[in-house]
Amino acid sequence: MNFADSEIVNSILLEDGMTVAKDAESADVILVNTCSIRENAETKVWNRLKEFRSLKKTNSELTVGVLGCMAERIKDKIIEEEHLVDIVVGPDAYRDIPRLLAEVEDGRKAVNVLLSLEETYADIAPVRTTGNGVSSFVSIMRGCDNMCSFCVVPFTRGRERSRPLESILKEIRQLSDEGYKEVTLLGQNVNSYKDGENTFTTLMDAASMINPEIRFRFSSPHPKDFPDDLLHLIAERPNLCNYIHIPAQAGSDSMLERMRRPYTREQYLSLVQKMREIIPGVSLSTDIIAGFCGETEEEHYGTMSLMKEVGYDLAYMFAYSERERTLAYRKFEDDVPEDIKKRRLSEIISQQMNIQKKRNLTEVGKHHLVLVEGTSKRSDEQMSGRTDTNKIVVFDRMDFEKGDYVEVEITDTTSATLIARPIRKTTITEYYGAAVEA
Ligand code: SAH
Ligand code: SF4
Repeated sequence: MNFADSEIVNSILLEDGMTVAKDAESADVILVNTCSIRENAETKVWNRLKEFRSLKKTNSELTVGVLGCMAERIKDKIIEEEHLVDIVVGPDAYRDIPRLLAEVEDGRKAVNVLLSLEETYADIAPVRTTGNGVSSFVSIMRGCDNMCSFCVVPFTRGRERSRPLESILKEIRQLSDEGYKEVTLLGQNVNSYKDGENTFTTLMDAASMINPEIRFRFSSPHPKDFPDDLLHLIAERPNLCNYIHIPAQAGSDSMLERMRRPYTREQYLSLVQKMREIIPGVSLSTDIIAGFCGETEEEHYGTMSLMKEVGYDLAYMFAYSERERTLAYRKFEDDVPEDIKKRRLSEIISQQMNIQKKRNLTEVGKHHLVLVEGTSKRSDEQMSGRTDTNKIVVFDRMDFEKGDYVEVEITDTTSATLIARPIRKTTITEYYGAAVEA
């Protein structure tokens, strides 16, 4: 989401006549787009700002700013830490950056952390200078009203609001004209997307019709209200990926209740079962938190057993990190000792690695349609891309290029990557058309 936001800021700054500097040393302005979701995300930002302090010593004209979720928290600190930051801009105030920079030029510190009920940056065409030119993110809504007890997002990003459907489709048409092949639609709970009569399913329907050769993903839906009609749409449209990220967070009812996640383990499992019935072969990923307030050993094993029962293809796993202002901060105690949190997290991770390895082994011999994202990190002689089911695949480069769809046969695997033999360059329409006929 920050990646997508930076592209909006990029557009605002270029429109204002600025250009992109080639590195931090030659820049007049450095803006750090920040995340507050966990303590270590914030620590990284503070370290980065300290690095920039030394640049400020050699270049007294340099302006350093903090954008995004940390803005609200940092606005008081900049008064204490005089020379670290000159400008602080919250996630709904990016349009104000040119005015704030002018204030800094007049020798003042500049702050705008106001949250909005309407801002969606709908009319701003993001300028994508740092992506791979093949896959892109499109933000469809901002903020969150869910108030999960551990989560700071509703406080840093404000109330939930949806971007008008037409502005989203316009952006996707533009991406299509520019040759993009993959779009991930982003929101904190995409199921609650709403623009008049339009729901997330009607949005996906309209988006997928723009260009049958662009594949679509989305992140994140919430298990409490995942719509059935979306599952049927994914099953029938070749360019809607057979991959769903469906964050569980925990596996026991008592923990889910403390987390204010309004579903039970059983409801979650029946959703998973329904996904697998309607979309055969669908791949699933999740988010998990270890060591949340009051977590017992039994609740921890509840999470482990849920993960085992579902058998996720991928999981993002975190140790609980207490965030100010959240319900958990106000009402509960962050009482699981650090060493126990760490041990539980590593048990969760190592079980997941084993599950992934086993699941990936079943891929050997199967054919997949891979969208090539570029050369592999390890070797220029290998290409790297993703299957429709979001698994990373590497194979020999041959004549393939970034942006090609390639049919491959999986020959080998690790827990994170599939290794394949390329068969032919093809298209979504041709590949799935043939599969349907067969
Ligand atoms: N809106 C998305 C989640 C966005 S935050 C959803 O509800 O699915 C991404 C993930 O960060 C969350 O799913 C959660 O697993 C994790 N997370 C959020 N707050 C956290 C905290 N205080 N400590 C540890 N992990 C946290
Ligand atoms: Fe945070 Fe819950 Fe909203 Fe996701 S749904 S952003 S976890 S409050």
